[in-house]
Amino acid sequence: MSYRQSSDKAAMIADQALKQMQQLIIPPYPDNFEIWYAFHAGLDAELSKSLTDLLESVDYFDPSAYQSIKQAFLGEETSQLLRSASDNVEALIASALTTIGSAADSAKDYGDALEDFTGNVASAEPDEVRALIAQVLQETQAVMARNRQLEAELNEAGERMETLRDSLDDARRASETDGLTSLPNRRAFDLGLDAEIDRAREDGTSLTLLVTDVDHFKKFNDTFGHRVGDEVLKLVGRVLKSLLKGRDTPARYGGEEFCVILPTTDVQGGFAVAEHIRKAISAKALKSARTGQSYGQITLSIGCAELRSDDNAGSLIERADAALYVAKQTGRNRTCTESDIAAAADGADRAAS
Ligand code: GH3
Ligand code: MG
Ligand code: MG
Repeated sequence: MSYRQSSDKAAMIADQALKQMQQLIIPPYPDNFEIWYAFHAGLDAELSKSLTDLLESVDYFDPSAYQSIKQAFLGEETSQLLRSASDNVEALIASALTTIGSAADSAKDYGDALEDFTGNVASAEPDEVRALIAQVLQETQAVMARNRQLEAELNEAGERMETLRDSLDDARRASETDGLTSLPNRRAFDLGLDAEIDRAREDGTSLTLLVTDVDHFKKFNDTFGHRVGDEVLKLVGRVLKSLLKGRDTPARYGGEEFCVILPTTDVQGGFAVAEHIRKAISAKALKSARTGQSYGQITLSIGCAELRSDDNAGSLIERADAALYVAKQTGRNRTCTESDIAAAADGADRAAS
């Protein structure tokens, strides 16, 4: 994003942005500020439309919808960053190729000069040999100087490529990381799940997916405020990270939903991991570090499904989601697996007949 406002205008826009963030109880972190500055400066038509719709749609400001708008907007920034980095890579490669081309030309010229020398020296009179040697020495010195310059140019291009590779790595990490919890985001989850499904099929191993959702989180937010809600989501992220190891991958799927990919794990194993996570979260006594105020207990409902031979990522997520729905319907703070889906459907049928 480029900013071309005068300093006075920018100060006015910044003031409006900060006031609105305060009103909506959005923490003044740089990424949030960027969004609201861009909004008040009218820098992006799509962003302006999405935020205007959000502000007008309901009397309460939906933080999860805001998060999606924010990710879409900042994600676009990241892709611009990636585009400009990729232009830089092309320019660097072109310049390195020119340098290498010059090195090849210069080596060929030198080779030709040596060949002439060999031919000439065979037929030269003894007093002409000294002049021929002097000529070859001069060529040699010239080619050595040229090679030193080419080496310096290639070294410099190498250093610039390393810097660029680091910025590309940073941009890639940022585009796959959730800003609030630092867990892999939805995009990284989608990529990771596809890759792990392929791998499970190749290796003939099992794979289980957990979909978890914080119980009554809206009420929690309404009671204690979104900032406290955000802290709870960060806590869930930390617990997931601390409990999961190796290729087991937690991700923030969106809002207050988290997913966990468990490679080489069947549904019983997945259930055990889910229960471990669920119990660890519900055992936390949440309270304000500043005032000591108790926030009570936070619980998770979890759905668990194992990959079948006819599954794709979408159908696996759907089954885990259906199991999560059963967990919600049957009391929350519990884990249900796909076998509970059928049992719940049977129960509903019996109740209806
Ligand atoms: P249920 O037990 O059925 O899941 O009830 P719930 O209240 O958790 O479900 P619902 O989907 O109605 O509400 C989810 C709430 O999660 C809405 C929104 O206030 C909150 N939320 C989503 N994303 C964020 C976030 O990034 N930060 C905060 N603080 N709250 C969020
Ligand atoms: Mg939810
Ligand atoms: Mg919920």
